[in-house]
Formats: sequence, C-alpha cells, structure tokens
Amino acid sequence: MTFWVYENWRAHGHRATVHRSQCGHCNGGLGRSGEPVTPNGRWHGPFTSFDDAVGGAQATGAVVHGCRSCAPSASRGSSPSGQRSISDPSPRVRRSNPPGLPGWPVPYGDLLALGFLPFDLQPDPRDAGLPSSGGRRWTTLGQVPDSSGVYAFTVDDGGVPHVAYVGLTTNLWMVTKGRLPQGGARPGQRYGGRPEYIGQTRLRVNILVCEQQDLGRRVRHWLRPLPPRT
Ligand SMILES: [Zn+2]
Repeated sequence: MTFWVYENWRAHGHRATVHRSQCGHCNGGLGRSGEPVTPNGRWHGPFTSFDDAVGGAQATGAVVHGCRSCAPSASRGSSPSGQRSISDPSPRVRRSNPPGLPGWPVPYGDLLALGFLPFDLQPDPRDAGLPSSGGRRWTTLGQVPDSSGVYAFTVDDGGVPHVAYVGLTTNLWMVTKGRLPQGGARPGQRYGGRPEYIGQTRLRVNILVCEQQDLGRRVRHWLRPLPPRT
C-alpha cells in the first residue's frame, strides 16, 4: 500500500492531507493538476506505510488530515475501522518544537512559496563515527540548479523547520558540490566538503549540521535559484 501527502498552504490554512496512492484526488502523487508542485501546494511521497505518510505530513509543519474520499489508515483493507485513523486525536499530530532547535521557525510551505527547494544531505560513510566537533563530509542529494541563488540550512525534529543559516552564492553548485557545472573546482565553498579544506564560517555550519544530525534531527539544504541579472 502506497500513500502520498498533499501539502496545501493556500486553501483552508496550511494543511497536509494523507491519501492512498490510487485515490482519484491523488493520482499517484500528481493530483488532478498532473503536476507534483503547483502554486497552491505540492505532493510528498511516495510513502510505503501509513505511519510514514503521517510522519511526512507532520514534517511539513501543517495541520494533518486524512482524505475523506479514500480514508487512509494503517489497515490493508478499505475500512479504517479498528485501526489507528488519522482523524483520531493524537498528541503526535500537533506538537510544538522542543527547545534547543537553532535558528527561527519558518513553515515548510513558506519556504516553498518563497521559491526554495529542499535537498536532503547524505552523510559520507567514510566519516561515520567521527566526532561532530571536527566536522564531517556529506553529499547533497538531488539535482542542483546551475544558477546564482540564496540558500538556507534548516533543522527539524518532525515539526516546523527552523532556519539555522542563510547565505548567498554566485552559483549553487559551489556550496553543494564544490565545483562549477563547467568544471572549475571550488572545494572551499562546499559546506559538506572535507573539513580541512573549507573556510571558517562553512566549517562552523558544517559542525552545526553534524551536531543536529547526531541529535536525530533532520537537516536540509534549501536552494533558491535567482534569475540571471540583465
Ligand atoms: Zn484521497
């Protein structure tokens, strides 16, 4: 059973609705528009279990709902009765951030509405087990725009993400890959690069990222391409 979450930040406030993949409103994560992202919202998924989908919905920071049409639940059948339903009042559905998250809270939908795209960070297995105090390498997953841009690092523990750092770069490849698309190497610019190669500010952010990951929190790199100057 596959599930998807539709995050909508325009209609009825900021809400995230869990659907079964085959629901007519879901259409395998493309919705009725046929697009995974629209000005009003976007699809998250696929999730292979109902619980994962609820977790993904909560991670958006929105109020979580279950689709009334497809009535998603943890059961394999179509009836949600007898299983934990998304409409059950649960302390997991709405919780506030515990103290200690760095930065300031910005709802996931606000970041998307501003034009930021989320990128997950994959820790480099070669640095596994090293103390966070020295920094560690990571890889930015996904297709990075070849453009100047604004970027942010967010930290979340399942609730509203906190923006911990914001920067500006002449090419988003430099801060994520340490090189230019055409090939010029810029290892000192890459936040997830080898700690001994990166500048002091980048090392400070790298260490912050590692510390937060060690706390079991999710750190993401958000990239917002800027239009070329004319
Ligand atoms: Zn549905």
